[in-house]
Amino acid sequence: MAFVTRFAPSPTGPLHLGHAYSAILAHDMARAAEGQFLLRMEDTDLERCRPEYDALIQEDLDWLGLTWNGPIHRQSEHIVHYNARLETLEGKGLLYPCSCTRSDIRSALAAPQEGVAFAVYPGTCRDRGMGTRQREDALRLNLAAALRQLAAADLSFIETGSAHAGHHRVDSDQAQRQIGDVVLSRKGEDIVAYFLASAFDDGDQHVTHVIRGEDLFDFTPVQVILQHLFGLPTPIYHHHRLIRDPEGKRLAKRDDARALSKYRAEGATPADIRRMVGLPNP
Ligand code: GLU
Repeated sequence: MAFVTRFAPSPTGPLHLGHAYSAILAHDMARAAEGQFLLRMEDTDLERCRPEYDALIQEDLDWLGLTWNGPIHRQSEHIVHYNARLETLEGKGLLYPCSCTRSDIRSALAAPQEGVAFAVYPGTCRDRGMGTRQREDALRLNLAAALRQLAAADLSFIETGSAHAGHHRVDSDQAQRQIGDVVLSRKGEDIVAYFLASAFDDGDQHVTHVIRGEDLFDFTPVQVILQHLFGLPTPIYHHHRLIRDPEGKRLAKRDDARALSKYRAEGATPADIRRMVGLPNP
């Protein structure tokens, strides 16, 4: 079976050791399987993404000695495809407009992260029809309705990461309790949210193995659900351990002190970085 994986950073800050671990692991697994390692910039949130971070990410990956296959896929260049998927969902009656607070919706645009509370939406706007949509409304997925439509589908995925290895069936009660009606688009500004763009791209780019941090494991069911709704295949998932700071906290983009570029400027070598994150040198 062909092996296609991807590294999918959001260019909202410099890469840190946690990203290095994720990128090196995915790259090495792809190369060992004689497969492909794709680079995808998840840059749909134009207010927070910066071209200088896009350039720095490429520079860091180059410096680490990682090469990617094919051109970089920038989500901001494919908005028309994501909007077409929104229309598919609208046609199935699975979207509703939501005018709840902007900060909730703003934080829902990026991928969830450990340590950043993920608010399961209480469903306040769920009964609104699409006809009531205002320009500034976000669009949410009606998860319960989606699960009803997919009642006969095999909603499951294979996980190969050691913490949750096995075959997981999507538990619809748990999905509604833990994930709920996620934001798929902040419509007024044509901003597509992480869940939709990432689930669509993984299927559309024929990614066979999604290798990413463990903090996204609990959210995988909604991506599996979206892939089924789009008629796309579900990849195998491999959620890896997170690289933590000495206090045990997950590293975040704002921890600039751990930016790869800083280590680089201080004279560290790519081999040092591999050692720091506990990965073997080739
Ligand atoms: N852009 C997401 C992040 O940086 C990627 C998540 C994923 O790999 O699915 O966290």
